[in-house]
Amino acid sequence: MEVRFGGRVCLGGCKTFWDLNTLPGVKPLRVVFPLLLAISIAAPALSNSLGSGGKSLGYATAFEGTAESAPESAAAIHLSDLSPKQGQVVEVTVPASAFTDAPPVLEVLGSKIKMFPNKSGDEGIYRALFAVPVVQKPGQYALSVGSMSLKFNVRNAGFVVQRLSLPPSKNNFNTSPGEEEAVDKAKKTVSPERMWSSNFVKPSKARMSAPFGIRRIVNGKLLPDYFHSGLDFAGFQGSPIYATAPGTVILAQGGNVFKLHGNMVAIDHGQGVVSFYIHMQKVLVKVGQKVEGGEQIGMVGQTGRANGPHLHFSIYCNQVASSPLQWFSKAL
Ligand SMILES: [Zn+2]
Repeated sequence: MEVRFGGRVCLGGCKTFWDLNTLPGVKPLRVVFPLLLAISIAAPALSNSLGSGGKSLGYATAFEGTAESAPESAAAIHLSDLSPKQGQVVEVTVPASAFTDAPPVLEVLGSKIKMFPNKSGDEGIYRALFAVPVVQKPGQYALSVGSMSLKFNVRNAGFVVQRLSLPPSKNNFNTSPGEEEAVDKAKKTVSPERMWSSNFVKPSKARMSAPFGIRRIVNGKLLPDYFHSGLDFAGFQGSPIYATAPGTVILAQGGNVFKLHGNMVAIDHGQGVVSFYIHMQKVLVKVGQKVEGGEQIGMVGQTGRANGPHLHFSIYCNQVASSPLQWFSKAL
């Protein structure tokens, strides 16, 4: 029933919110795939892989690239993990003394990410977060900040693949006019202030159902540009949805306007980190509103492409979907 998947490139335009298991006529995951459910509840491999423990979390320092041209103490790129798994978020820091003209830009895995001064009063550091894409092929890669570079290793997270059968009529990604644009715009939000200072809270008290990162084989064919970009919570209709961390509401769409996502909210947490709450029954916040972590922002529903009430929750880090579990246990 399950097979391993070795990685496939998927750039831009991925229908990453699409939730096959919530399509009308498709049995909920917990019925069809009890084994997968067990994985989603315990999520041992995933949580192990995403920084809940292990020696790989120690800070690593490297002196590579053109480091010899600068004083040694000022030429280090620090990574929170030199061997992250697919879906994992990594913190990158560099000494500010090496970049006196302007804040530097981190170049990693095809992305250019703005770095920001550290909030903790340590003015000597620039910092950025990046997420390893679920579809990133395991292997060695290099990142760079200015003239400094550092090699790191992407490990396979072992995301499971779900097989299911669907009538062709339900195998589509139909969206409303403006829907994808609104969601894409929210994903691209980068505001300078990091608004969180502790772990993120779970957005629902319900049990977790479909885990992050799974792919799907539909009617015998692997969906080439699909993976589950978030974590599902099997909340009942009308149950509360909470903001996962402090932030500013940047998208609040009610009124059953969006065909695919349904009623939804997006919250900007700063420095490229944005959380999404999909398929809501009711939206209780407005664009521009500041929220605290744990504050109610809506109610669980089944709007959009969903046949049963649940919350699809995702956290994007500089436009790349990351595993929510890491943010709950060790937000960087
Ligand atoms: Zn989902």
